[in-house]
Amino acid sequence: MREDRKTTRIMLDMDGVVADFTSEVLSRANRMFGIAIPDEVTTWGFEEAGIGITAEMLDEIYADIKATPNFYEGQKPLITPREAVMLRQLTESSQFDVYMITARFRVQGRSVVHQCQNWVRRHIGPGFSVIVKRDKGTLCRALGIDYVLEDSPVYLDGIIKAGTNRAYLIDRPYNRDSSICPRVKSIEEFVDIVISETEGTIKRETGHGLL
Ligand SMILES: [Mg+2]
Repeated sequence: MREDRKTTRIMLDMDGVVADFTSEVLSRANRMFGIAIPDEVTTWGFEEAGIGITAEMLDEIYADIKATPNFYEGQKPLITPREAVMLRQLTESSQFDVYMITARFRVQGRSVVHQCQNWVRRHIGPGFSVIVKRDKGTLCRALGIDYVLEDSPVYLDGIIKAGTNRAYLIDRPYNRDSSICPRVKSIEEFVDIVISETEGTIKRETGHGLL
């Protein structure tokens, strides 16, 4: 018998990776200030995107989000149904632990963790750990995270400096000026990388390919 390998630990960011935060801001900008919703936002800061949102408007938009009860439970998913299946299959294998690590701020209603858990269970499935923490680098190191998927070059910088080597930036219009680490076009591409690099482990575990 081979010695059991260590569980492969995967970290996914929530906003901008699995959940659509941008559309929540843009829909409020439209409703509250009559700003036309652009096809895409190509800067990290909404107030720098040249779409008419000022810093003062953004303060009011964030105040509205914070006053929306259980805001995080209502966000639209960015993941496809196929990607949801892929993520579920990761959690169903004993070889993987999947963590959603988010720096989300508090809003009205249930705790951020509780809202995130409800959202993940509804749109993806059970079996995910949700942690709310701003210092993602220290947390990833403490958890022994092997693979990271983020949309923020700033968080990735902290995560990589803390020692996580297999970090990936998910391609979004607002992060295209970053070359901090390898870029993937989708969650599917990221999961394919994780699976291909750990395929032997999965085959021993399940007797067949994961997907
Ligand atoms: Mg994010």
